[in-house]
Amino acid sequence: IGALTASFRLDDARVEVGCSVGVAVFPRDGEAYDRLLGAADMALYRAKSEGKGTFSLFEPAMDREARERHRLASDLRSAIGTDQLDLHYQPQVEVATGRITGFEALLRWHHPVRGPISPAQFIPIAEETGLILPLGEWALQTACREAAGWAKPLGIAVNLSIAQFRQSGLPDYVQAVLSETGLDPRRLELEITESLFLEDTTRARRVLRQLKAHGVRIAIDDFGTGYSSLLTLQSFPFDRLKIDRTFVSQIGVTQKGMAIVRAVIALGENLGMPVITEGIETEAQFAFLREHHCAEMQGYLFGRPQPIADYRDLLVADLEPARRLSA
Ligand code: C2E
Ligand code: MG
Ligand code: MG
Repeated sequence: IGALTASFRLDDARVEVGCSVGVAVFPRDGEAYDRLLGAADMALYRAKSEGKGTFSLFEPAMDREARERHRLASDLRSAIGTDQLDLHYQPQVEVATGRITGFEALLRWHHPVRGPISPAQFIPIAEETGLILPLGEWALQTACREAAGWAKPLGIAVNLSIAQFRQSGLPDYVQAVLSETGLDPRRLELEITESLFLEDTTRARRVLRQLKAHGVRIAIDDFGTGYSSLLTLQSFPFDRLKIDRTFVSQIGVTQKGMAIVRAVIALGENLGMPVITEGIETEAQFAFLREHHCAEMQGYLFGRPQPIADYRDLLVADLEPARRLSA
């Protein structure tokens, strides 16, 4: 690993290559070539998931885990397009007024045998297997169609995976979904994560600008946990920063955590990117955000992700003043 990760020069550029290693031992982990290599591959998978640049030795438990992932992946494949998959909606709230401004759509999988499976478990599998593409398309279409039917023109935030972002023609696809469903583009917000900017930033910038040219807003999700640099914030036209829950949970707990939340709110404010915080669970967290003029928030304190039917009364249009008088 040390030898392979040492940086080297390529013409004028300094180039770095990452490396992770999976180790299998002959004949203990496999006597046949493909079994041995398969074992090394499973160990490699573990090494990568423990953070890059490390190694891992094969253990029999990995075999079980790999089979388990494989089974879940094939169940997920056949779940797409059935009522096993569903979207839940979590309200987003304006801090100053307590007004609901929109909802984030979150995928839910109800497995016929295992019951509910968390997105934290199935989204990574969907990403590894490419299933995130049909899954993400379904989520985008369903959320836009649902939101287009609301009496109030509230916002709708949809998570976009990096694999979807990599697909050529994403801006055209999003536009097609908007025109099919009749949703006003200004109501749609796509949530992307910082990992996007590790790749081809020129391309990322172009795609973001195309999406924005269609009128769609872009938020950066889980802000502060990934790889974004201040340079990213300086050069990309985000509409919102979404501070991750790990920082919010530090409010009232550590001085440093609170300083980070305060500083990010101010940073976003000054860059013209209002901040929305996620994971607000307590009144104390809410009070802190109000005191520091955070724009919006989302969390269990105001509402959990639920089927949209549970939020019906929030979607009813406000009565016209005249009708309100006569009512
Ligand atoms: P995320 O986009 O950062 O979503 C926020 C997560 O925090 C959700 O978890 C939500 O249920 C949870 N949450 C919200 N408020 C609170 C709170 O007050 N306390 C706590 N403890 N948790 C809170 P969920 O629904 O399990 O989703 C996890 C992740 O899965 C999402 O993180 C997102 O990255 C991914 N995901 C979900 N749906 C989709 C989708 O349609 N497409 C893609 N690509 N990813 C999705
Ligand atoms: Mg999100
Ligand atoms: Mg998040």
